[in-house]
Amino acid sequence: MMAQYLNILYLFAAILFILGIKGLTRIKTAGRGNLLSAMGMLVAVIATLLKMQLGDEALGILAGQIGWSYIIAGVVVGGLIGAILAKTIKMTAMPQFVALFNGFGGGASVMVALSYSVAKILSGTPIGSFDMLTVILSLIIGSVTFTGSLVAFGKLQGFISGKPILFPGNKLLNLALALAVIAGSSYVLLGIVIPAKLVLYLIGITVVTLLMGILLVTPIGGADMPVVISLLNSYSGLAASATGFVLKNDLLIISGALVGASGLILTRIMCKAMNRSLANVLFGGFGADDFAVSGEKGKQEYTNVKEASPEEAALTLEGANSVIIIPGYGLAVAQAQFAAQELAEALEKRGSKVSFAIHPVAGRMPGHMNVLLAEAKVPYEKLYELDTINPEFKTTDVVIIAGANDVVNPAAAKEKGSPIYGMPILNAYEAKTVFVIKRSLSPGFAGIKNALFEYDNTQLIYGDGKKVLQQLINELKEL
Ligand code: NDP
Repeated sequence: MMAQYLNILYLFAAILFILGIKGLTRIKTAGRGNLLSAMGMLVAVIATLLKMQLGDEALGILAGQIGWSYIIAGVVVGGLIGAILAKTIKMTAMPQFVALFNGFGGGASVMVALSYSVAKILSGTPIGSFDMLTVILSLIIGSVTFTGSLVAFGKLQGFISGKPILFPGNKLLNLALALAVIAGSSYVLLGIVIPAKLVLYLIGITVVTLLMGILLVTPIGGADMPVVISLLNSYSGLAASATGFVLKNDLLIISGALVGASGLILTRIMCKAMNRSLANVLFGGFGADDFAVSGEKGKQEYTNVKEASPEEAALTLEGANSVIIIPGYGLAVAQAQFAAQELAEALEKRGSKVSFAIHPVAGRMPGHMNVLLAEAKVPYEKLYELDTINPEFKTTDVVIIAGANDVVNPAAAKEKGSPIYGMPILNAYEAKTVFVIKRSLSPGFAGIKNALFEYDNTQLIYGDGKKVLQQLINELKEL
């Protein structure tokens, strides 16, 4: 009877997860969505602990090895670390933060599947072939997610080079390792392995797939890491789902499937926004070629760049009927979202129509700009997506590009050989006047020259995004 009530609690948690994800699809409802999902997780944890107390077989096998004190300590310590990190982490470090989360998810799946199967094997209880299949899937997907995510974290945090690390025979080695995992798994599933060696085989499969996770992510460039993280997020969901089958836990199966599917959808959206195929992201070694110009070399590429002072820009802005502000990664670095909103208000007071144009991959993770601008209370109606805003540029007086680069680079539309060719961009170059706020002529994440900086209608205002926007506000006030 009690078990039935617990299933209802599980169903309730699953509904909260689904409503939570639905809420996350819109900025206005995102906060509530997050809260609903967190509540769902709380319900799930409580129901699972009650289930364990009632004597659930699979959970009992795990709990038998640890006991309540460890569980409570884990919840308290983990919850505390999570809360502190969530409060202190900078928005610009969010992608690597998510990468770590994914990695922990994958790692947890591996540990659960391994401890469950090893405990059963050591106690002499046979594991059915379907159960063994789910254990192996959990180990494989979880291990690749764990080490792959750690490499992604290292690349974004600057612990390892963001450049693709390629060596001769890289793909061949991966293939050999994959074949070894398939062979080992088949041996276990077909019952060829004697029980005494089963644990050794399972550990062997785990170690090899841990290595594969590293080798699969190191050849991918830092610029593609957010896509990889999104894919690994999906993998962490699949690993959790497989673990749900191991533990015969419906809620873990459902929530894992939700993460798996939403991660895949997000990966597809990001690939589309960058006009790249997933295969190209994973195996293309993007960023390793000589096309990329960065640092000093990048700066030498430009011959005809016009500069404007904040005072000159304010004079042009004063007479503008329409202004579009394009935020990019630099706006996030400078924490200039509040200044951007203040500038928009100052311009509106003077009678200009102000809109914000959001490119789907502006910043370093999907939704990065939306979150920042929402933080600064930019009204939702003023945010326009690529398709809606692009027809407007032709009739716009002034575009202010604040710390964006690749997402306004005309090379994506005009230069066939460019690595970003085909990526949809915001057509800022079509406006009457374009002001680009950035600190130097350094390139953006793709590491390539931006021809827009040399266009006749474009002027650069050098400086930190926040400082320059504030100077513009002050200059406008004095006019
Ligand atoms: P970019 O990385 O192209 O450019 C950012 C610009 O900001 C740089 O040119 C930099 O120039 C400038 N900048 C840095 N710090 C400051 C500062 N303090 N003040 C003012 N400017 C500053 O950013 P975009 O947003 O245009 O493009 C995002 C890139 O990330 C794309 O290449 C995209 O494909 C990639 N990416 C994004 C993903 C996502 O989900 N959002 C996913 C995968 C990839 P300077 O140093 O001269 O100041």
